[in-house]
Amino acid sequence: MEEAEVKPVRREKKEKPQLKESIYSLRPDELQEWLKENGEKPFRAGQIYEWLYNKRVKTFEEMSNLSKGLREKLEENFALTTLSTLIKQESKDGTIKFLFQLQDGYSIETVLMRHDYGNSVCVTTQVGCRIGCTFCASTLGGLKRHLLAGEIVEQVVKVQQTLDEVGERVSSIVIMGIGEPFDNYDAMMNFLKIINNDKGLNIGARHITVSTSGIVPKIYQFADEQLQINFAVSLHAPNQEARQKLMPIARAYKIEELLEAVRYYTKKTGRRVSFEYGLMSGENDSVEIANELADLIKGIKCHVNLIPINYVPERDYVRTSRSSIFAFERALKERGVNVTIRREQGADIAAACGQLRAQERQDEVR
Ligand code: SAH
Repeated sequence: MEEAEVKPVRREKKEKPQLKESIYSLRPDELQEWLKENGEKPFRAGQIYEWLYNKRVKTFEEMSNLSKGLREKLEENFALTTLSTLIKQESKDGTIKFLFQLQDGYSIETVLMRHDYGNSVCVTTQVGCRIGCTFCASTLGGLKRHLLAGEIVEQVVKVQQTLDEVGERVSSIVIMGIGEPFDNYDAMMNFLKIINNDKGLNIGARHITVSTSGIVPKIYQFADEQLQINFAVSLHAPNQEARQKLMPIARAYKIEELLEAVRYYTKKTGRRVSFEYGLMSGENDSVEIANELADLIKGIKCHVNLIPINYVPERDYVRTSRSSIFAFERALKERGVNVTIRREQGADIAAACGQLRAQERQDEVR
């Protein structure tokens, strides 16, 4: 008997669109490597960087000193943009908040701040956050995913492209948007290497600040990188008990361990560290607490940055009154602590510290 022909079952396959890697994810050495593997001269990496970060082209086609073949290969393998701008909202004080959509539908926020000393961009490192600080909006929906290096770099490129329209430049970067940068350490380091490169956006290390909630092993690792980058630690409380009430991460890494790591950092790099301290009425803002804080950080090469806490609707923390903020500042000064009060920017568009949040899908964005 003849065998019946077996026909493959036809299934309606919903093809997922093939996502290309962002070209902005590649460090110069990685781009050189890719070029070599693809039969091209490694020096082309410098030219490509020039097009990406200096001329800031929007298509591979425009990279006119590259062969047509290479431009086609780049086009086939990489995406020149993986962020699309959903919302660009400007505050009364000139701050601009961007809502960018990622290729998989998640969206993130990035903030451009205008200061008299220049333009600063606050970048996001994760979709959401798993640190769980009780006063922060970024952590409300938990962590969805880490950002890739290119998705962090592109935030700066996109903001720079907006500034190109008015002939201005991004002069500094703060890694203080949504997410915990030390929880996405490798992507953060690649981001730093790419924007710091002199053929890249060439933003000097001293113009970059990274802030952590206090992931102790990563602080040691970061200290050993020996970078000239400004380093900030979110402290928010003068003792273990108070800190773990505000920041669950304090259960994993005790305040003494955190300060030990910070001391290691200051010794290893010779640089001072900045402690961020959000003032919440009745929680952590009395003069006694200021004195306790001064004792805690005594002998550490540091500076305290007081942040009047910003409003997050889901949370019931209340900002410390102006007079109490000044009293807190005075108490620290009297004990010889370097202290500043952070000037608030962009609160009217919910773009201030702790107010940024990730969105799950485009259709949730209003
Ligand atoms: N995950 C990093 C970067 C976060 S954002 C970190 O924790 O340091 C930068 C600063 O904003 C942190 O010091 C954070 O604690 C602070 N912050 C969070 N929510 C805030 C709020 N509602 N008001 C003021 N500052 C807030």
